[in-house]
Amino acid sequence: MDVRSRSRISTDVVVAGGGAAGVAAAVTAARAGLRVTLVERYGFCGGGAVAGLSGTVCGLYEATDNRQARPRQVVFGFADEFVRALDVRGGLTAPLPYGKTWTRVHDPLVWREAADALLRDAGVEVIYHATVTGVLSEGEERIEGVALWTKQGPLEVRAG
Ligand SMILES: Cc1cc2nc3c(=O)[nH]c(=O)nc-3n(C[C@H](O)[C@H](O)[C@H](O)COP(=O)(O)OP(=O)(O)OC[C@H]3O[C@@H](n4cnc5c(N)ncnc54)[C@H](O)[C@@H]3O)c2cc1C
Repeated sequence: MDVRSRSRISTDVVVAGGGAAGVAAAVTAARAGLRVTLVERYGFCGGGAVAGLSGTVCGLYEATDNRQARPRQVVFGFADEFVRALDVRGGLTAPLPYGKTWTRVHDPLVWREAADALLRDAGVEVIYHATVTGVLSEGEERIEGVALWTKQGPLEVRAG
């Protein structure tokens, strides 16, 4: 049991986990003018893409049976912005054939740098080495925040 005193912070939005979904959610919410705190158990973002070394960015291009077709990107939004951030840092290949579609191989170290830059520029507060251990709730109706274990001891983050 960690006997250090519990710290408490409050924010508008708490995002648990800095994988692809968490980075997108945190940056998007911060750009909408909200105070956002992202908590991540490891010392870097990326989840499956970085810690898991998944290797490629899938899902951006149309699938087709036409073997002569060129890659046609059909997913844009934050995913597209993130891919561009990887590209300008030299962390991404051109689209490569993958079954009926195309994929792009990324460098996981560049992935986490791109994520950190987007989070920093959006003003997201990031707490690494912070593992969510439970939720803070008011009865069964409302989740108020999360309880965490961090390297600095127990932490509660309440989010409006
Ligand atoms: C074997 C495998 C291979 C794959 N290959 C590819 C591929 O080549 N290309 C591709 O595009 N997709 C691939 N995928 C899919 C891709 O990995 C997922 O779609 C993507 O990682 C999902 O992102 P996410 O943010 O939802 O979750 P995750 O990437 O899992 O991120 C979750 C984050 O939350 C953190 N976290 C978890 N629990 C806690 C906690 N209690 N407290 C704090 N933080 C926590 C984790 O450390 C992690 O950073 C693959 C998946 C698998 C399983």
